[in-house]
Amino acid sequence: MPFPPLPPDRWPDAPARYPDPALRALDPRFEELVLFNAAVERIATGHRWVEGPVWFGDHGCLLFSDIPSDRILRWDAATGAVTTFREPSRHANGNTRDRQGRLVTCEHLTRQVTRTEHDGSVTMLAGTYRDWRLNAPNDVVVAADGAVWFSDPGYGILSDYEGRVADLELPTAVYRLDPDRGDLRAVVEDLERPNGLCFSPDGALLYVVDSGSSPRTIHVYDVADGAAGGGRVFVDMSPGSSDGIRCDVRGNLWAAAGGGGDGYDGVHVFAPDGTLIGQVVLPESCSNLCFGGPARNRLFMTASRSVYSVYVNTTGA
Ligand code: MG
Repeated sequence: MPFPPLPPDRWPDAPARYPDPALRALDPRFEELVLFNAAVERIATGHRWVEGPVWFGDHGCLLFSDIPSDRILRWDAATGAVTTFREPSRHANGNTRDRQGRLVTCEHLTRQVTRTEHDGSVTMLAGTYRDWRLNAPNDVVVAADGAVWFSDPGYGILSDYEGRVADLELPTAVYRLDPDRGDLRAVVEDLERPNGLCFSPDGALLYVVDSGSSPRTIHVYDVADGAAGGGRVFVDMSPGSSDGIRCDVRGNLWAAAGGGGDGYDGVHVFAPDGTLIGQVVLPESCSNLCFGGPARNRLFMTASRSVYSVYVNTTGA
């Protein structure tokens, strides 16, 4: 599969001839997801390594982490202004919201998953498993029943750049936390570096990126009674790797793609059968993404030093 680069004058912020060539259909199913007059926009730049985008419609803003800069930033949709939401962020990485709309965050420095209450106070949700410290929680998603599922690949303690160097105390894993009962369980233990994760729209499938396997893959598991089983490879991300992932309401998987160079990096979109149906081509390695905007039809992508967005003809699951 070739990944041809875009013309060099496409970036930064060059005018796009519609339809935007950065939205690349590889299958007719992707053409249904693309709006003919929507362009990929760079909405923020100048950061170090952005991650963990999460939409707050009630505040009209996107929050995202800049992990090395030890900040969570806030992009205001009305003005386009970027301000600091939290600093220090304890080297926050992945973010999401729970069923009550509260911010849930993976922190590398504290090696915890935290919840920010409506009054702004921060509650620790998970920090240890069987008396061992978590390595460095990376990404997080909340299930329909309110359970918090998060990955712990340990990347955040490999350097002093995105946390603090330390030895891994636990095997890498995906955990499920029942925040009401405080029950924490390892639910996926067969991946090298479990990273981004999301559920299918009906909650019956859990997708998990393995960004440490060779080749880099995305796996899928059957979910029942708070457990994940029957793990199998969903797609091979060669020659690059994925990181954060999200499903749309049709069950397509939108996967951040990086490390593959011009023409590969950006977002790869897979149909539920695993076919690569299209790409959003970006000029930087993409780390993560989310759907947002008032109609949830705006895709936000954190990519290396910048944040990008594009309106699409579907909505987030
Ligand atoms: Mg990640």
